[in-house]
Amino acid sequence: MTGKGKFPGRRWWVVTAPRFLADEMLGRLARYLRMVGCDTTYVRGWPDDAIVARAREEGRILLTRDRALAARTPAAILLTGVDLPDQLRQLVHALPQVPREVAFVRCTLCNGDLLPVPADPDRPPRPERAGTPVFACASCGHRYWEGSHTSDVRRHLAAWIPGTAE
Ligand SMILES: [Zn+2]
Repeated sequence: MTGKGKFPGRRWWVVTAPRFLADEMLGRLARYLRMVGCDTTYVRGWPDDAIVARAREEGRILLTRDRALAARTPAAILLTGVDLPDQLRQLVHALPQVPREVAFVRCTLCNGDLLPVPADPDRPPRPERAGTPVFACASCGHRYWEGSHTSDVRRHLAAWIPGTAE
């Protein structure tokens, strides 16, 4: 892949990152996919027909642990792994273009777009965060920045997926 970096241009990710629809058994996976910049819708309590229809209408790849649901969806990846590391390994094996680097592009809570925001003069950053870019979700307003949480995610991805740099 090209154009890598800690804060790659948003356009690059939008064009290249696959778009997913994760079913309700894959909530943790959905959050990780958002952290690496994949537009990932997560649905809970939806009937199968509605899931299949939405994946098709929005051109999303369905991620599911349900064999029957995968079989009846045109673009689906069946993930049989029971835990998150297994599911991520299976997904990257099936779709090697899945990014494996933290990117401040999608909100992990609601999948909204993240946009860089100027420092808030009423909320000065803590000293250890001074100069750290801050991003805010255009939908829910949640703020994100580089920190111990993102380091943990990088460490996990490197440990779980062979060939991934920390
Ligand atoms: Zn949000």
